[in-house]
Amino acid sequence: MRVVAGLMFAGALSLLASGAAWSQTSAAKSAAAPQPAPAAAPAVAPAPTKAPCANPNALGIGRVVEIDTTGGPGFGFEHFKQLDFLRDKEVVLTFDDGPWPLNTPSVLKTLADECTTGIFFPIGKHSTYYPEILKQVLAAGHTVGSHTWSHAILTNKKLTEDQRKDEIEKGFSAVKWALGGVSPSPFFRFPALQHPPEMVTYLGTRNIAMFSCDLDSFDFKARNAQQVIDVTMKKLDKLGKGIILMHDFHKHTAEALPELLHRLKAGGYKVVKMVSKVPVQTLPQYDEEILKDAKLPTVSERPVSSVVQTISE
Ligand SMILES: [Zn+2]
Repeated sequence: MRVVAGLMFAGALSLLASGAAWSQTSAAKSAAAPQPAPAAAPAVAPAPTKAPCANPNALGIGRVVEIDTTGGPGFGFEHFKQLDFLRDKEVVLTFDDGPWPLNTPSVLKTLADECTTGIFFPIGKHSTYYPEILKQVLAAGHTVGSHTWSHAILTNKKLTEDQRKDEIEKGFSAVKWALGGVSPSPFFRFPALQHPPEMVTYLGTRNIAMFSCDLDSFDFKARNAQQVIDVTMKKLDKLGKGIILMHDFHKHTAEALPELLHRLKAGGYKVVKMVSKVPVQTLPQYDEEILKDAKLPTVSERPVSSVVQTISE
């Protein structure tokens, strides 16, 4: 059994004005900390300086909730039934398998146009391919968790217990590396929503929250954007609320999102932003492994124009 100790929604902040909710709350949190952060403290995401929402008809953010991940709480009624925290007509938007060119930036643009937000569960490897895209996700104020290193299905019997832990830990370390050393939230989603019991227990010992979903958009199976919208709205209208599983990796999802968000707004749904009380504590050996893997980690980052200058032609 998993231990869900000390779980609480500290504050369950109801920042109702979307303009106010749109800014990252981490700055306020660090300001409220009783002690200055020691040198070993995990890096805190810098508060992005965001312009107020320019779209008067935006979907916005209805509520921000802070999650205490002590003991590894599980969210999403497809697998975890204990924590029924969403009110009627509330949704959480979640996006898996990024970061990916074109599609992730498209999703980011749509979310920005609607002044709303989601939780991103990037794959570790993808994060090392496209760290700049993942940095944009964080800079836009979205919540970033992790979705393993290589999207291995952790119930696969061929994997040893150590290999399963490696997938989880290296995934978080890769995301942290891609974010320039900023630790993501201790939010994790199992690939294919396959939950091996011993890894559920392990995540509990690591104080990492697990995210299943309430409704799966099945966007990875969709033939077109319209199908993503239809499947999602049909399920949502039946349930009345829920954590929605989507993939910023997929083209159809990126294409569907503008209309889907319009439909959410028209249907009276409100987006809930989930943030973690503290960032994940990555394990040093995995952070080092990522650094070793990264190609030319000490290469100069000077722009071409400062290195190569035409002096004659
Ligand atoms: Zn996935």
